[in-house]
Amino acid sequence: MSHDRETRGFQAEVSRLLHLMVHSLYSNREIFLRELISNASDACDKLRFQALDDDSLMEGQGDPWIRLSVDPDAGTLTIADNGIGMNREEVVENLGTIARSGTEKFLASLTGDRQKDAQLIGQFGVGFYSAFIVADRVEVFSRRAGEAADQGVHWESDGKGEFTVETLEREQRGTAVVLHLRDDAREFADEHRVRAIVRQYSDHVAFPIRMPKNAEAGDGEEGEWETLNSATALWQRSRQDISDEEYQNFYRHLSHDFQDALTWSHNQVEGNLEYTSLLYVPARAPFDLYHREASRGLKLYVQRVFIMDDAEQFLPLYLRFIKGVIDAPNLPLNVSRELLQDHGPVRKIRAALTKRVLQMLKKLAGDDDKYATFWSQFGEVLKEGIGEDPDNREAIAALLRFPSTENTAPGAVSLDQYLERAAEGQDKIYYLLADNLEAARHSPHLEVFRKKGIEVLLLTGRVDEWMVNYLDEYQGKKLVNAARGQLDMDDRAEEAKAEQQDNPLIGRLTETLGERVAEVRPTGRLVESPACLVLGEDELGPQMRMMLEAAGQPVPESKPALEVNLSHPLLERLQNIQDPEDFAEMAESLLDQALLAEGQLPKDPAATARRLNRLLQEHAERT
Ligand code: ADP
Ligand code: MG
Repeated sequence: MSHDRETRGFQAEVSRLLHLMVHSLYSNREIFLRELISNASDACDKLRFQALDDDSLMEGQGDPWIRLSVDPDAGTLTIADNGIGMNREEVVENLGTIARSGTEKFLASLTGDRQKDAQLIGQFGVGFYSAFIVADRVEVFSRRAGEAADQGVHWESDGKGEFTVETLEREQRGTAVVLHLRDDAREFADEHRVRAIVRQYSDHVAFPIRMPKNAEAGDGEEGEWETLNSATALWQRSRQDISDEEYQNFYRHLSHDFQDALTWSHNQVEGNLEYTSLLYVPARAPFDLYHREASRGLKLYVQRVFIMDDAEQFLPLYLRFIKGVIDAPNLPLNVSRELLQDHGPVRKIRAALTKRVLQMLKKLAGDDDKYATFWSQFGEVLKEGIGEDPDNREAIAALLRFPSTENTAPGAVSLDQYLERAAEGQDKIYYLLADNLEAARHSPHLEVFRKKGIEVLLLTGRVDEWMVNYLDEYQGKKLVNAARGQLDMDDRAEEAKAEQQDNPLIGRLTETLGERVAEVRPTGRLVESPACLVLGEDELGPQMRMMLEAAGQPVPESKPALEVNLSHPLLERLQNIQDPEDFAEMAESLLDQALLAEGQLPKDPAATARRLNRLLQEHAERT
């Protein structure tokens, strides 16, 4: 009966993934059933969608179904569907390769530590290959809907690097996956065990999942199959009737996540712009959150008919971590991605969903632990919204969290908390940009703030400098860079300016350092440090410079001012140095250490080291 049998090798990535998966997912192994039922459900969705255009694909058969059957004696479990099915080419393509970008990098990130890897693989999504966690041999029988019975295909593999495919006769449209269970996984050939798992994990699947009522039930004998799930689209049910557990199970199905979602929001909107949305916030970022081609967006349904995955037009990019479904019954069933792009109602739904998500996050922020988890996973992505979504900027800003001089834990302080704590009359929000928390905490720029008891937010995130460019103010209070320009909070500023006129030291330093700094001026910013560098209000900071450089963009020259603390003993001593060479040496050292305190390298690090060594030596000779 069969012909054209051929044996082929898996793509190298598949072999590695299979090996790692079997190893690391052992304690989570019943997820294989969720994955295979999810594939069957996807196949039914696809059939129904394609049949909108071509009714003949239904082949005169009624509604799609999923069937599970076990054979305890043979130790097999079969998951069958009458969905879209696959032809030979599709079987080879879909079951022999991993078409996702970033797979290689993902695999390289696996550690060999079972528990860690199980989490990582959960983020990656294991799909069909999870069958090999419990089976040492897997067979797939399939026929694409609408094709002739002699175009069936049989695929088989032991998951060790090769698979065989052959063409064969198959009456039944759709796919059957037969698992030959490992000795230690025979429990999955037990009907009761399988029923329990389906009830627990797959109740919300929108197609009937059936098991035979008796051993004789076979293909097509309707009455003898019993439906295990409620088989209605979960989002169409009313909120009061859905338990948290059901919501979580639906989330796992949707996201292929192992963990529960942090929170969700389920809304049925009536009226002109009728739609139902069910949106989830995951507890963990997917491995490809920052990949350009990563899948994102919602699962789109129109009148409960699945239309497409990853409909990214319904949420802005900075909310790409949200998982969920949108059912918009007034969209045309033949809606395409191109159409969605430019569709008035879709834009309105997107605006409403964006607000909905921001509200959901605001509510989540009431739970410190959960919000900390959220922030650690998605905070950096949310920040993108400050630049990208001016309409919601204030609402997004309220969700931001930063370490500060009061509380250096990551994500500790919100702008609202900052303002609550601010002293009467403080009309600004001060922040400091730095590469890392350590550098931020010890920055000389904080000295005057510490002295005055003013809190400063410590912005060390990757996109913080870019972000604050877009965040001029919050609740009517200006955000001010603590290391920039003249600080008008400094009550000695005027006095200091006057001093500048007649202090000869300033003149000498200016002359010695020349073009290297924009100017030398006395400061009220410093308490313990002798000097620091201050950029002009509108100049690019180091993070932005790095970003531009990395993008190959021209980066304008920037020149900070050197501010010196005239009441520091070092400056007092400097005043008394007459020898021009000695003076130059000291002036250079002053500039060097100011650069180092900013986390920057002096122009000539070797010269810096030489100077330092000489000073140390002189010091040693004197003691
Ligand atoms: P994913 O479901 O995320 O695409 P899987 O590894 O679960 O990844 O499945 C790989 C592909 O194999 C699917 O995208 C689909 O094209 C195909 N496939 C798997 N199971 C079935 C099935 N029961 N019917 C039709 N196609 C299937
Ligand atoms: Mg799948």
